[in-house]
Amino acid sequence: MNDYKKILVAIDFSDYGNIVINQAKHLAGKLNAELSVIHVLDNIPMPDTPYGTIITLSVQSGDPLLEAEKNKFNQVCDDLGVISTGRWLIWGKPQEEITGLAAKEKIDLIIVGSHGHHGLAALMGSTAKGVIFNAECDVLTVHLKDNQ
Ligand code: AMP
Repeated sequence: MNDYKKILVAIDFSDYGNIVINQAKHLAGKLNAELSVIHVLDNIPMPDTPYGTIITLSVQSGDPLLEAEKNKFNQVCDDLGVISTGRWLIWGKPQEEITGLAAKEKIDLIIVGSHGHHGLAALMGSTAKGVIFNAECDVLTVHLKDNQ
């Protein structure tokens, strides 16, 4: 078995986000792996921007909504100690951008959260399911419960 050297954690700023982030930090530290972070923008309007567009973090956009997302994202990355080349803010559909980036960046392990509290039909959040089906590498799902 090969060690995981490049880990990508997908973050969504939900109430449970910190659980996924902390698990990724812990595992990357234990394995001495390089940690990258992706957040896919799918919650603000981005007219005339094709899916897959990488948002430049260092350049001001003039859009207050986008700047707020960038600030939130940079804060998480700062806390994790992730360098600028490991920070990926991308416009698009989460599962596609997460798996596409992982393939492009030759990631060994993707970490996502999954919800397991609504029975079999919702065994995993839709993003987690999509990532597992589409990823070319291993995927770790962090189980998220209501009471965490
Ligand atoms: P969900 O399917 O929305 O319950 O999300 C499950 C997990 O997918 C989250 O815990 C994150 O790890 C990941 N995820 C969901 N939405 C996004 C997003 N917009 N950008 C990056 N990761 C996401």
